[in-house]
Amino acid sequence: MDSGMIGKIDKAKRYAEQLDRISFDQFEVTLTGDNSTHVVTFSDGRWSCDCGFFARRGVCSHTMALERVLGVMLPATPQPEPSAV
Ligand SMILES: [Zn+2]
Repeated sequence: MDSGMIGKIDKAKRYAEQLDRISFDQFEVTLTGDNSTHVVTFSDGRWSCDCGFFARRGVCSHTMALERVLGVMLPATPQPEPSAV
């Protein structure tokens, strides 16, 4: 392997350990829930999920699960009011 590629791999390892370098702008994922499969999307800092709970509350176990997985890689988003949770 050439030295140029070795340098790139070293940099990739460092980037992969520094999650605050990465921010998701938009994506769509399929999440297999206990009862059915849901499509969750994230765009312009806003979540969307096709489940009924999200339609009523604007947050659900599926979006919260992805927030836990992605952590600092998500831009800061406003949290729901505590009274609405
Ligand atoms: Zn959901």
